[in-house]
Amino acid sequence: MEFNINNAISELRGTHSLDDSSLKNLITSEDTSPLHEAADIERKRVYGDAVYIRGLIEFTNHCKNNCFYCGIRAGNASLSRYRLTHEEIMDCCREGYALGFRTFVLQGGEDGYYTDKALCDIVYDIKSLYSDCAVTLSVGERSRESYKKLFDAGADRYLLRHETADPKHYAKLHPNSMSLENRKRCLWDLKEIGYQVGSGFMVGSPYQTLDNLISDLRFLQELLPDMIGIGPFLPHSDTPFGDFEKGSLKMCLNLISILRLMFPYALIPATTALGTIHPSGREMGLKAGANVVMPNLSPVKFRTLYELYDNKICTGDESAQCRSCLEMRVSSAGYKLVTDIGNVRRDELEK
Ligand code: SAH
Repeated sequence: MEFNINNAISELRGTHSLDDSSLKNLITSEDTSPLHEAADIERKRVYGDAVYIRGLIEFTNHCKNNCFYCGIRAGNASLSRYRLTHEEIMDCCREGYALGFRTFVLQGGEDGYYTDKALCDIVYDIKSLYSDCAVTLSVGERSRESYKKLFDAGADRYLLRHETADPKHYAKLHPNSMSLENRKRCLWDLKEIGYQVGSGFMVGSPYQTLDNLISDLRFLQELLPDMIGIGPFLPHSDTPFGDFEKGSLKMCLNLISILRLMFPYALIPATTALGTIHPSGREMGLKAGANVVMPNLSPVKFRTLYELYDNKICTGDESAQCRSCLEMRVSSAGYKLVTDIGNVRRDELEK
């Protein structure tokens, strides 16, 4: 049957699914205003014009892994490494709380320095001081026991992108020491323990095919995560993928809209990578269906050292500047930044 974009959109909106071939047509579509409009209607139905802010604290750039795309990979010898102390992390939260943040996202490389005990103490202290806030962790693959301890210490949410749901593609992006199987095990463990879970993937990573992207969407349909983060792949010059092309902005925006229609309840960020690939990328992401922004709360002196890819934006601004800049961007796109804790609206899944 010939592809008709309006039929495909209404089927996706009505059933939250679609056959592979129509999905591929939507992902690569050039005529995307009906897709973005439908996604915008859906986000407004579930979340109104609210955009949630999460304060991102990039607390360590040490990493034991060697992901071929990532600027803070262990093999990048030209990077100077830093860690925030317990106190420095608490300072970021204090500043963030005063600025209206009610979610703190602690993100970092896989850094053994932060034992379960050290991380649990940090989580516990943040939750004790700011009981009206959510703590999100994004510190990679750990054991189920470790995830359970961190959950019991008070962590509410966990971000762990699956990166690609095709095992062969996964093996092209990561060294042999890493596996999709373990990444998925982590995601299921996190979910069973009771975290609100975020997953996602890069758009346009090296060797990625359209079939890989379909696998990504199918995996998300199994996992049903609360948060879904996607962004374009951007090369970093000190990695094995330094000479690869960056991902496509258009495809990324199409995928945000598809995700909104498939998972109406989901929290979907307009990511920093989107803001890096285009000066108005995050605004475009919001208009395509995203409803979360994650300004940086890390101390400015460390920001350039958490460069996952070249030319990452917002490395020079103080936290307060980042917040007001984003507030302006969100309202220029026609939405409203809210200081709510911003939990997922799961009940919408049933509708
Ligand atoms: N160590 C943590 C945090 C990783 S950084 C973890 O494993 O989850 C957060 C995300 O940045 C990654 O999941 C990846 O999808 C993205 N990222 C890393 N390098 C990138 C690049 N070169 N271009 C675009 N996104 C990248």
